Amino acid sequence: METLLVKASDEQLVKAAEYLADGEVVAVPTETVYGLAANAFETDAVRKIFAAKGRPQDNPLILHIGNLDMLYSITDEVSELALKLAADFWPGPLTMIFSRKDSVPSETCGGLDTAAVRMPDNDFTRRLIEKCGFPLAAPSANTSGLPSPTSADHVFSDMNGKIPMIVDGGECSCGVESTVICFDNGKIRVLRPGAVTPEMLCEYAEVIVDNGVLKQLSADEKVMSPGMKYKHYSPDADVFIVKGTNEQFACYINSLDESEKKAVLWDGTDFSDSVTVLPYGKTSAEQAENLFSSLRKADELGCDKVYVKMPDTSGIGLAVYNRLLRAAGFRIIEL
Ligand code: AMP
Ligand code: MG
Repeated sequence: METLLVKASDEQLVKAAEYLADGEVVAVPTETVYGLAANAFETDAVRKIFAAKGRPQDNPLILHIGNLDMLYSITDEVSELALKLAADFWPGPLTMIFSRKDSVPSETCGGLDTAAVRMPDNDFTRRLIEKCGFPLAAPSANTSGLPSPTSADHVFSDMNGKIPMIVDGGECSCGVESTVICFDNGKIRVLRPGAVTPEMLCEYAEVIVDNGVLKQLSADEKVMSPGMKYKHYSPDADVFIVKGTNEQFACYINSLDESEKKAVLWDGTDFSDSVTVLPYGKTSAEQAENLFSSLRKADELGCDKVYVKMPDTSGIGLAVYNRLLRAAGFRIIEL
């Protein structure tokens, strides 16, 4: 099929809404990463998302709403705590898990009896959802397993020929996917870290960071968020996290085989010509913004290996580290 790549505008909003009402899939911008959207209440539309991404059927989708009223079409159990968080963080990169009404197709939620919901902080996409009048199920708009897309070009490279329309709303400001939380006896359990950090959430309730955030779960461990068990965010190149001082990092990179085509993500000086330095950033927020696009860039340049300086893990740095661990298959080189 032909894939239209269009700039976000009022005219294209009408067109996107038509495709979505017809049960088609449209890639849309959000503040986190691009989403692959379809009517969350239509099983056939949702199946097309799984097919375009090659996503395992048991990995549930996040339902995106345009206003708070829409939440009640998905769930009828909204706690005071959830309402407070919605008031303070929506629209924004916080996904909350609720019990699901029977009217939400099981396929949308990967067979679970819960539904993950968020209100994206992107004007075009929120208006689009309101025009549609139904929530949009929207996972990241990448081929399953690859780094998430933070620009419309990234989406085009994965989805050209598979979906009818991609809406270009510019680069995503956040760069990593939303924080996913569930409620656990009055506590907040973080299943996936994002820009809404544990430090921010602990103002509202006790916060538990789930085991799966920083650990590779063994086959017999219960997975609270099915997405955590899959290979994720990985470019074709082999990724390694390198832990040490800047001096040790530079020394290590200089000691590697010159013939290896490699890229590094760090905020230090350049190396010899055999090493490509890709954008990383000084702050955790910059690293979140750059991470996926630099991993994709490494593949575009034909690099075999990518060495990433261990990020700081506080604040949004926890999200950077969580994505990197999976991109690197948990390989850490300790210097
Ligand atoms: P993505 O769509 O790529 O942003 O990934 C969505 C993430 O949210 C995955 O890690 C899912 O496992 C998680 N998720 C979605 N719905 C649920 C749910 N009902 N319960 C637990 N985790 C969920
Ligand atoms: Mg994803």
